[in-house]
Amino acid sequence: MTARVLDGRAAAATILAEVGAAIRARVERGSSVPHLAVVLVGDDPGSHTYVRMKRRNAEEAGLTSSDHRLPATATTAEVAALVSELDANPAISGILIQLPLPRGIDPGPVVEAVSPGKDVDGLHPFNAGRLAQGNPTVLPCTPGGIIELLDRHGVAIEGGRAVVIGRSNMVGKPLALLLLGRNATVTICHSRTEDLATICREADIIVAAAGRLHLVEPSMVKPGAVVIDVGVNRLDGKLAGDVRPDVAEVAGWLSPNPGGVGPMTRAMLLLNTLRAEERRRP
Ligand code: NAD
Repeated sequence: MTARVLDGRAAAATILAEVGAAIRARVERGSSVPHLAVVLVGDDPGSHTYVRMKRRNAEEAGLTSSDHRLPATATTAEVAALVSELDANPAISGILIQLPLPRGIDPGPVVEAVSPGKDVDGLHPFNAGRLAQGNPTVLPCTPGGIIELLDRHGVAIEGGRAVVIGRSNMVGKPLALLLLGRNATVTICHSRTEDLATICREADIIVAAAGRLHLVEPSMVKPGAVVIDVGVNRLDGKLAGDVRPDVAEVAGWLSPNPGGVGPMTRAMLLLNTLRAEERRRP
């Protein structure tokens, strides 16, 4: 068997086109254009690349955006003060803080300096709490993008067994809650999980978000299962995922990496920014 492809590039292009059409409709009726403010602290080259890609996608979809940079030597209070200033600016619809922040900066006060209405990453405790209660307002971008990726390929979630590898606040935990909300039976695995392979073999859906190169191998996958590769690793200077490529010989569906979850994450950010603006100014 060769797995069918969960094509994140194509699905993301469709979402960007939908966001673009909604923005054109807003402009035609004299309403505002959503504006995304991106906060980037320090010089991490990976973060700079992600921010560039996010801003390019924003332009493509017709949103306006701005970059706000601070050096890696900035204090938690300085970063939180910048975020509070952006939060108070009525021209800004949504604020993205590029994570991870440099060592020494506590992300808690920085994330909480964004008001829940401008939190387009869905990381503010208010939005995380709404999600935990099964009543989400803003879907965190990567988990939300994964659900969209499944839905847009007609992959059933309800009643299936889902295994999420990773329990971070940004990916694993919110994704597990979203899958639960869609009536999957969810197991969360993490670095202390014993016998990951046996747990994975029971799954109809496996999401690998550990950041461990080729952690999921074919012997861990039930034939026909859906496998989503979130992890970002390097192999011989190239991007590589948490899923070994030959899993495609066993899985029923597999998201490519690159070309799967990454573009969906960026598309969801812009969709969230549009929705934030729609809530402020319909
Ligand atoms: P994180 O480091 O915060 O969390 C990793 C999680 O994996 C932890 O909960 C840890 O317990 C678990 N883990 C680590 N080793 C494990 C192992 N051997 N077995 C089982 N679990 C293990 O990372 P994160 O922010 O959740 O991101 C996870 C990965 O996804 C990273 O590689 C990150 O770069 C990538 N990512 C990709 C996108 C995208 O858009 N493509 C978005 C976000 C994150």
